[in-house]
Amino acid sequence: RCRIKDAARASCSRVYVASTVKLFIDGKFVESKSSEWLDIHNPATNEVISRVPKATQEEMLAAVDSCSRAFHSWSETSILSRQQIFLRYQQLIKDNIKELAKSITLEQGKTLADAEGDVFRGLQVVEHACSITSLMLGETLPSITKDMDTYTYRLPIGVCAGITPFNFPAMIPLWMFPMGMVCGNTYLLKPSERVPTCAMLLAKMLQDAGAPDGTLNVIHGQHAAVNFICDHPAIKAISFVGSNQAGEYIYERGSKNGKRVQSNMGAKNHGVVMPDANKENTLNQLVGAAFGAAGQRCMALSTAILVGEARHWLPELVERAKALRVNAGDQAGADVGPLISPQARDRVCSLIQSGVDEGAQLLLDGRNVKVKGYENGNFVGPTIISNVTPGMKCYKEEIFGPVLIVLEADSLDDAIHLVNNNPYGNGTAIFTTNGAAARKYSHEVDVGQVGVNVPIPVPLPMFSFTGSRGSFRGDTNFYGKQGIQFYTQIKTITSQWKAEDATLKSPAVTMPT
Ligand code: NAD
Repeated sequence: RCRIKDAARASCSRVYVASTVKLFIDGKFVESKSSEWLDIHNPATNEVISRVPKATQEEMLAAVDSCSRAFHSWSETSILSRQQIFLRYQQLIKDNIKELAKSITLEQGKTLADAEGDVFRGLQVVEHACSITSLMLGETLPSITKDMDTYTYRLPIGVCAGITPFNFPAMIPLWMFPMGMVCGNTYLLKPSERVPTCAMLLAKMLQDAGAPDGTLNVIHGQHAAVNFICDHPAIKAISFVGSNQAGEYIYERGSKNGKRVQSNMGAKNHGVVMPDANKENTLNQLVGAAFGAAGQRCMALSTAILVGEARHWLPELVERAKALRVNAGDQAGADVGPLISPQARDRVCSLIQSGVDEGAQLLLDGRNVKVKGYENGNFVGPTIISNVTPGMKCYKEEIFGPVLIVLEADSLDDAIHLVNNNPYGNGTAIFTTNGAAARKYSHEVDVGQVGVNVPIPVPLPMFSFTGSRGSFRGDTNFYGKQGIQFYTQIKTITSQWKAEDATLKSPAVTMPT
């Protein structure tokens, strides 16, 4: 039963007040027959707002069978018809952006403005998917020999599956099924069990946009659902975004079963601050990128390296972080919302304590923050730890909370050395007014996404999301040209049309030269 409280209910819209999250199988939103259910909490209050099932084996089989059946007709549907569906879809998402954002804030906790950004960045991928008619073009080479031409088709691969994390309930599902489906694949989505409602709203909108039954199926669950996806032979490709623990496991298990797997994982993103940087701009960017979304972004700038004299900027950094308002995400003026769960909060607090125990300096401590009216929420206020060294636990682990750790370096070379010795390679940024320093950093740093005076350099969808090293497993990245490659295979056709008088007179038994 839905035990949502009046205050939270008032900020809900009609769709997600439902007491249980449905499965989406073969075009129908159905109640699971599972005996195992998980509670979904509002992170600002810890009240239970609904329940999500762990789908049964029969339900998961029904979902993948539906994808397999739909693939026959969907893959043969004209590319222009598929494009039209996604053109309608992007409009529906735009029309419902506020409703989607509310569902995100309720289940995930981020502020409403940030939740709209979550939808918007996913919407951009849907918009890009609408260019599919040029993205899917093959190649041709006429006259490779007399009367012979070679050309390629880019074709779908079959049933694809997506497994998503809690921190971007709209953007990350939208990195996956629109790209996969517009290429002609059918799609099985397993959203994060902690924030499933936004994915269900997105599934409903896709159905309303005209996607035929079975082209998208949604199941829910945890490990059993993930193992099912890794093992089912009809599933040809898996897109995963989440932690290293899950991502490396899924990459290995899925690959062993002969599937394509792309796995975007954890991060430790460094912001290198040169003493010549524009101070005002840099400090604001650092604070926004470290504490926005309560630090629960894979591209959060969680680690600052202050080079040379920039070390004197610390007191001002602390003042700006202190000024951020911690509050429930649906409250006006909130800058920093709650963490996803009490366990996440405890973990973040213990990592802060580990820094103190290992000799770092706690310049700003957000552990005892009190939010009036939301005393049971999972809040941690902005926290800054300085004098951190690479051997400390708070440096080695992804904190995934509103915590900025600060290291110092004497030179740009020292800073690059530090960043390149960290196992993760998701994102990084340099703040400087010196073009030569910016160029040197961009070229020498071994990280997949680099910002120059841009704190969170997430590429737009005409490019790809190119996290590297410990932040990625696979060889083809999400969205952009690489996303199309991931969701397609190439067929190469060599054809000869000879005039009659050029007919072979005897069998050709040697390789053609
Ligand atoms: P998570 O790994 O706990 O969960 C992600 C998905 O995997 C969920 O659907 C979950 O059900 C499943 N899962 C969880 N544990 C599993 C296990 N042991 N075996 C199999 N499946 C499992 O991640 P999360 O906490 O939801 O998300 C936060 C993490 O995601 C952070 O590490 C963050 O950096 C990362 N992330 C990375 C990117 C990126 O693009 N690199 C983007 C967003 C988030």
